[in-house]
Amino acid sequence: MPFAFAAAVLAAIIGVLGAAATQPEVAFPIFIGVVVFAAVLTGVAVAASELFRQYRQVAAGTQTKLDDITAAERRLRNVVDSADVGLGLADLEGNLTQVSDRLAVIFGRGHDELLKVSITDLFAGEERAMVSKGLARLRDGQLTRWATELSAVGLYMVRLPADPQLLVQATDIAARRRAETLSDCLASVREIIVASAGVDQALPQVLRQMCEHLGWSAGQYWSVDSETRTMRVRHSWNAADALLDGFLFASRGMAVTEGNGLVGRVWQAGILAVEGDLTRATGYEPLRAAQIAELRSALAFPIVQGSEVTGVIELVSRETQTPEVEEVTVLATAGVEIGQFIRRAGIADALRRSEADHRAIFERSPVGIARISDDGELVEANASLLHLLEHDADSMKGTAWPDLMRAYDQAALRQHKAPFLAGISDGGSLQVRAATGGGTWLWLQLTATSIPDSYGAPEHVLVMVEDVTALRETSERLTEALQAQRDANANLEKFDQTKSEFLSIVSHEFRTALTGIQGFSELIRDGGLEPDEVRAYGGYIFNDADRVNRLIGDMLDLDRMESGRMTMRTADVDINDIVMEAISRAAPSATTVEFKSDLDPRLPIVAGDRDRLIQVLSNLVNNAVKYSPEGGTVTLASRVDGRFALVSISDTGIGIPQDEIGHVFERFRRVRSGAAQAIPGTGLGLTIVKQIVEMHGGKIWVESAVGHGSSFHFTIPLAPESAQALQTSNG
Ligand code: ADP
Repeated sequence: MPFAFAAAVLAAIIGVLGAAATQPEVAFPIFIGVVVFAAVLTGVAVAASELFRQYRQVAAGTQTKLDDITAAERRLRNVVDSADVGLGLADLEGNLTQVSDRLAVIFGRGHDELLKVSITDLFAGEERAMVSKGLARLRDGQLTRWATELSAVGLYMVRLPADPQLLVQATDIAARRRAETLSDCLASVREIIVASAGVDQALPQVLRQMCEHLGWSAGQYWSVDSETRTMRVRHSWNAADALLDGFLFASRGMAVTEGNGLVGRVWQAGILAVEGDLTRATGYEPLRAAQIAELRSALAFPIVQGSEVTGVIELVSRETQTPEVEEVTVLATAGVEIGQFIRRAGIADALRRSEADHRAIFERSPVGIARISDDGELVEANASLLHLLEHDADSMKGTAWPDLMRAYDQAALRQHKAPFLAGISDGGSLQVRAATGGGTWLWLQLTATSIPDSYGAPEHVLVMVEDVTALRETSERLTEALQAQRDANANLEKFDQTKSEFLSIVSHEFRTALTGIQGFSELIRDGGLEPDEVRAYGGYIFNDADRVNRLIGDMLDLDRMESGRMTMRTADVDINDIVMEAISRAAPSATTVEFKSDLDPRLPIVAGDRDRLIQVLSNLVNNAVKYSPEGGTVTLASRVDGRFALVSISDTGIGIPQDEIGHVFERFRRVRSGAAQAIPGTGLGLTIVKQIVEMHGGKIWVESAVGHGSSFHFTIPLAPESAQALQTSNG
């Protein structure tokens, strides 16, 4: 530039000179002047050129610096504008002097508009008061920085050092707040479904939390009725508004089919759907009620179990609500979780019902039931068992049950069965005798069943306890009756047999006697006999007739005794006297035996029927003689035995076999073995003897050994006064 300027000056001068050169008188001085001037000019030009070069260098440096600053400022502004936080400068009164674009966006105002207001003007109500207060404290220097979180904005102000200005920083926390609200909503829903016992309790609360957190006016839960394949409202919640009640009431009356209306569409598609403007909607039911309730928007999302939609939650609002993607995600998640909860609750409910059924069976069963642990301890007894054993729960657990278990094990041992715990898996049952708390003895039937857990391992054991006392007693009585019947039959058989034997014996006896009578009387009738012979034959006839007579007498006696018609004529009787009479009666015909007597001369008087007692002694003496076919000794003894007179008739005859000893006093009983069978008899004598002795209040018994003889002993009570006298003399 300085060179251009010099060249221009030079050119102008040359131009002037060119014109002047046409006049020679001024040509030389002009020439000199021009040369000097040119030299000066050249010097100036050189100096100016140097100066100009230096100037250009400085200017270029300044321009670069300026460019750098401009670029840095542009970068800074870009940074400030593209920051997520809004930034601005304000004076100490809060009037904004510079603002970033983001700040304008956060406060929803224009950039220039923001420069006209104070920071406090951007807030209202309580928030405004808070900001004014913060500003005042910064202004007064109480604070150098102040921060707070307001409903939608996080505000941070710093007083700049050495400059009466404030840096204002604002963060948009609306999105964060929204995210927090959504996560709070989900957390509340989870809290409810975790803590609730059932669907009916949880769903109204879930609806309420959703409405309150997400800003909806009312909510209702539609569930599928699998029979009619429709959806009906099962629960609803609203913010207590009569108009909304009308809408909810109208919804309750509806049965939605798949694909129809908002709810039906969500049911069909399985995804969230929104009705953005109910004032103009067409595919919404109940539209009229919604419009009367002044509802503007509705949202519905599916409740899902696996891949199946089992219900729909519908939220309605008086505001225009357009859910954002986060809200949609949260509601979809809630739909799945609520679906799982409903499924779990359904299973739990079914389990509870089944448990309740079993409990009712346990508690109300008429059979006693005990639940015991696998080591046999009583866990629980039902009311029937406590009632049956007359115990309360404590005494049942403490004593009655262990006693019952011991009784079981003892009974099992006796019957060669497994003890209680070892035998549970067999499922067998056993009857045990046990006492109740009230002291009554019962027969109890115990049947154990092992209840397995879900893995099949025995979890606990149920023991059924039944009172089988009546059953047992009946069956015992039946057994007894049967036995009695059997015995009676056997007796009858025996009696039949004895009767036929008796008949044959009696017939034989009669016939023998009658044959004798007939034979001898024929001989007498035919005549021609010596008088001695007639006498002898007459004697035989007499004896035979006597035999028949005795037999008939015995039979009649027995009949009288057994029918209770036998009377006794009791008087004082001297037993020794009777003994001697019996010997003297028997002796004449008993020539083969020797009689001995061993009588106690001081034997007191007894009270008895003399004739009957003679009958007793005669019978016994006759037997002693009769069953001593080889002869021998018959000894009669008497003595006092306590309050009785004891009489013994002993022989040295054939004796009685051991197995017959207990039977010889039975009716028609006769020994049919050995030597006895050859000796005639009817088996009636000892029966009559026993009856007579017992009618006197005494006893009769026999000691005998085959081949050695027999001793019959009987007692007759002493007469009362004799007994007394005896007692006095002994005492
Ligand atoms: P019987 O008319 O047969 O003698 P009893 O009733 O008098 O009837 O006696 C019953 C049975 O007892 C006899 O058949 C006999 O076998 C046995 N008996 C009775 N007395 C004696 C005795 N002194 N010695 C041996 N056996 C006897």
